Amino acid sequence: MARSKQDIRRFIKLNSICSLLVLIFLILNLYIIFSLIVVNKKINLEINYFEDLLAFTEANYDKKELELFLLEESINNIKNIENKISEIKHTYFNNAYLYEQKVIEGTGKKKIVYLTIDDGPSAYTNSFLNVLEKYDVLATFFLIGNTSKQYINIYDKISKNGHTIGNHTYTHRIVNGVYRSSNIFIEDMLKQEEFIFEKTGLKTDILRFPGGSKTAGSRKKPIIEKLKQLNYGYIDWNVAAGDANGVDISKEGIYRYVINGTKRRDIAVVLMHDFNKNSLYALPSIIEELKENDYIFLPLFYESSKVIK
Ligand SMILES: [Zn+2]
Repeated sequence: MARSKQDIRRFIKLNSICSLLVLIFLILNLYIIFSLIVVNKKINLEINYFEDLLAFTEANYDKKELELFLLEESINNIKNIENKISEIKHTYFNNAYLYEQKVIEGTGKKKIVYLTIDDGPSAYTNSFLNVLEKYDVLATFFLIGNTSKQYINIYDKISKNGHTIGNHTYTHRIVNGVYRSSNIFIEDMLKQEEFIFEKTGLKTDILRFPGGSKTAGSRKKPIIEKLKQLNYGYIDWNVAAGDANGVDISKEGIYRYVINGTKRRDIAVVLMHDFNKNSLYALPSIIEELKENDYIFLPLFYESSKVIK
C-alpha cells in the first residue's frame, strides 16, 4: 500500500513536470509566431516603400531618360571636380574661421593647435605623413623647392592627404640669399609658388619667412607690402619645438618644449622640422598629449586670425 502511494506521488510529480514542459513549449511557439508576424510586417512595409518609390520613378521618368539623366549628372560632377574640391575647402575654411572666433571669445569647447612642419620635403617627411595619418591629424607643411629630387613626389602626397601646403621660398637661403632685397625675396617665393602649383595643382597664399619674419630685418616691411599686393599672408609661430639645429635635442626635450609651450595658449602655432629624426620620434606622444589636453588639430588657411595679411 505504502509503495503504491509513493507511486501515485511520483506520477503526480512527473505529470506536473510534463505540464510545465508543455506550457514552456506553447509559450515558445507563441513567441516565434509573434516574431514572424512582426518581421513579416516590417518586410511588407519595406517592400511597399520600394514599390512606391519605383512607381514614382516610373511615373516621373522614362527609364531610358533616367539612365541618361544619371549619366549626365555624373559627367558634370567629374567636369567640376576641381570646383567640388574648392567648395569643400571653402566650407572647411568658413567653419574653421567661425570656430577660431569662438575660441578667441573663450566659448569654444576645444582649443586649437596649428601644427606647422618646415623645410621639407626631406628624408623623414613621408614618416611624418604616416604618423599624422595614423592619428587622423591634419597639419601644415611649409615646403621648399631646392631639395633632393627623390622627395619631390611627396608634394602630391601631402596635398592629397588634406594637409595645407605653405610657401617657404624656393631656396630657403638666408645667408647671402633671399634677404638681399625685397625683389630677390619675392622672385624666390614666386618661383616656389609656381613649383607648388606644378607639383600639386594648388595655389598657396600663405608664406613663412625662412628663419621667421624677424630674420628679414629691414627687408621685412617692403616684403610685406609686396606680399599684400599678391594677396599673400604670412605666419610665424608661438611655440617652437627647439628642433631647428638637428638632433642636438632629444625627443623628450622636443616633447617638453611643445607641451609646455602650448599649455599657455588657446590657439597654438607649433613649429617643427621634418628633417629632424627626434621630432619624428616625439610626434606620436605630442599628438596624444595635445589631444588629451583638449586641442583640435587644424590645417592652416588664409583667413585664420594667425595669418597676418
Ligand atoms: Zn625654414
